[in-house]
Amino acid sequence: MDSDEQRKMRKKEYNKAYKERNHAAISLKQKEYRKKNTDTIKRKEKDRYLKDKEGRAISNKQYYENNKLRLVRSARDKRERQKLICLSHYSGGNVPVCSHKFCNIMDVDMLTIDHIDDNGRKHRSTLSGNGTGEIIYRWLIKNGFPSGYQVLCWNHNVKKEYERRRKS
Ligand SMILES: [Zn+2]
Repeated sequence: MDSDEQRKMRKKEYNKAYKERNHAAISLKQKEYRKKNTDTIKRKEKDRYLKDKEGRAISNKQYYENNKLRLVRSARDKRERQKLICLSHYSGGNVPVCSHKFCNIMDVDMLTIDHIDDNGRKHRSTLSGNGTGEIIYRWLIKNGFPSGYQVLCWNHNVKKEYERRRKS
């Protein structure tokens, strides 16, 4: 006969596999729920927080400390996913590649999104955190991939800046 511990483990594994299998459907459902109940959720969260301010702060901190590695990793994974989504979109829905003529750089780490009209700085300054990479990726996704952007490798990004300075 199984011990409680074993049963618990099996259940945990089953749940995990279920979540993985149905990840898209679950996250869509959660998203819809959150959208429909934004105010209620916010109010409940606030109530919970106000009820036990100090305890919450400590437990949040403790939770972060205990799960630091996982949290950092999952935030990074999310950033990388968002970047990849943007790069693919602005590469015509294909494997990301630098849009400069004859350049075949496909290494995602060496690619970036470029404002075609050189208004990057101005636009970034209107975004939170001055629009660092991850924020611009989030912004592009949220705004349905507006036109005016292209994929460049870092070298061609720098080259474009040199040419801009030469012209000005
Ligand atoms: Zn390039």
